[in-house]
Amino acid sequence: MAPKKQTRGACAFCGRQMTGNGMVKHLSACPKRKEILSAQENKPGKKEKIYHLKIQDAWLIDFWLHLEMCGSATLQELDSYLRSIWLECCGHLSQFSLGSGMGEEVAMDTRISTLFQAGMMLTHIYDFGNSSETQIKVVSEREGKPMTEHPIYLMARNELPAVETCVCGEPVAWLCFDCANEEDEVALLCNKHAKDKKYADYTLMPIVNSPRTGQCGYQGPAEPPY
Ligand SMILES: [Zn+2]
Ligand SMILES: [Zn+2]
Ligand SMILES: [Zn+2]
Repeated sequence: MAPKKQTRGACAFCGRQMTGNGMVKHLSACPKRKEILSAQENKPGKKEKIYHLKIQDAWLIDFWLHLEMCGSATLQELDSYLRSIWLECCGHLSQFSLGSGMGEEVAMDTRISTLFQAGMMLTHIYDFGNSSETQIKVVSEREGKPMTEHPIYLMARNELPAVETCVCGEPVAWLCFDCANEEDEVALLCNKHAKDKKYADYTLMPIVNSPRTGQCGYQGPAEPPY
């Protein structure tokens, strides 16, 4: 069996496409990023510790993010970011804990610079019923000036993984929940077939670039907050 193709994404600095793991190495060496960072150092503003984070859904590894986060920010800001880009459906509870799995809980108001160290892992849980589990790895840290006035900067994210096609061969854009519960029904629909009368009374969910697609009432939009 051929290995499943890993999802790729583009480097925000130079546009090169690669896998989430390839991006770890690339971001530390990207010439365009180095150029931008050194130009940044000549601008006014305070230096601080800034962390490179690799974020991945604990089970659906096709979904990943590479973020840069300021040490002066708090975990609360990472929580809000994850909710915007991946998770928020109906305001469920969430928490961070140390390590992978359900380790010791870390308070939301914890300042990043007092906690993060290169190599450490954290787990974020959103929704304790139909839970989404996200792993956060602190890849490295640097001392410098942040890329933006925001606490978090998006350096790369996966592109929407290739899903199966509709029966007609078109790309799938919707998931039908009612069909998914009936065995031999079509649950994956293109834009055109989703408008079919048959589905008028069914619950269709848009397929968006988030590991929470298909969970609880998640509808996206799976966009970063800034
Ligand atoms: Zn690059
Ligand atoms: Zn929900
Ligand atoms: Zn179709």
